[in-house]
Amino acid sequence: MRIPSGLNEIKSVYGDPDRNHDFAPDPDFTRRNLVKVPLPYPLRLSWNLDLVSRNLYGHRLAAPRIYTFFDQVAGYYGGYQKMKELDLDIWGGCYQFRSKRGGRSLSVHAWGMAFDYLPHLGPFGKRSRIPAEIVAIGESLGFENGGTWSVPDGMHFQLCRDY
Ligand SMILES: [Zn+2]
Repeated sequence: MRIPSGLNEIKSVYGDPDRNHDFAPDPDFTRRNLVKVPLPYPLRLSWNLDLVSRNLYGHRLAAPRIYTFFDQVAGYYGGYQKMKELDLDIWGGCYQFRSKRGGRSLSVHAWGMAFDYLPHLGPFGKRSRIPAEIVAIGESLGFENGGTWSVPDGMHFQLCRDY
C-alpha cells in the first residue's frame, strides 16, 4: 500500500470519516472501514493502567500493520512478559473520532490509522524518550512517528504523511 500524503490522498486511500462535515462519525465510513482485531498481547491503557485492551479497533488497511508492529516490538524485547516488566505494554489506543489538538481539523485518529504508544515516554510537546529501536520498527512498517516534529508527539505513530 502506498502511504498517502496530505489530506486529499488520505481521503482517497482511507475514505472520509466525516463526509457531511457535521463533526460526527460517518456511519458509512465506519461500516466499510473500521475493524476490530485481536492484539498480539494485552496492552494497558495509559490513562488507567488497570484497564487492558485486548483488541485493536482501527482502519482495515492499518490494523494488520499495527498488529505486526506490536508483534515485532515483542520479538525485539524477547516477549510480552519482558515488555511488561519494562512498562512497554502501555498505549493510548488507535481509533478516536476527534479533532487535532488545539485545532478544528480531524485528527488522524478519526481514520483509525494512527495509534499512541508509550505516552509516558513520549508525552505531547516534550522530547521523546521512546527507544529508537521501537521507532525504527514503526518506520520499517511505514508509520511516521511524531517524536521529531517541531512540537513533538513521541507517542504518536501514523500511517500517512504531511497531515
Ligand atoms: Zn496520536
